[in-house]
Amino acid sequence: MTENLLLTSSPLSALDRCDRCGAQAYVRAVMANGFELLFCAHHAKKYQDGLASTAARIDDETDRITEESAAR
Ligand SMILES: [Zn+2]
Repeated sequence: MTENLLLTSSPLSALDRCDRCGAQAYVRAVMANGFELLFCAHHAKKYQDGLASTAARIDDETDRITEESAAR
């Protein structure tokens, strides 16, 4: 499982939870100092504007939501 130790590109999993509400996280915002914030789709959208100006990088995996619901 050593491949999961890659810090910069590991995909979000079901264990990653939104920092605001505890729902499954689909967006990770990485600050310039390396601090990471996780958001569900709802809160990612809510904080989108602020994150865009403060985060060094944003990993948006909200595409997976539609994929997963379509698979059901
Ligand atoms: Zn949330």
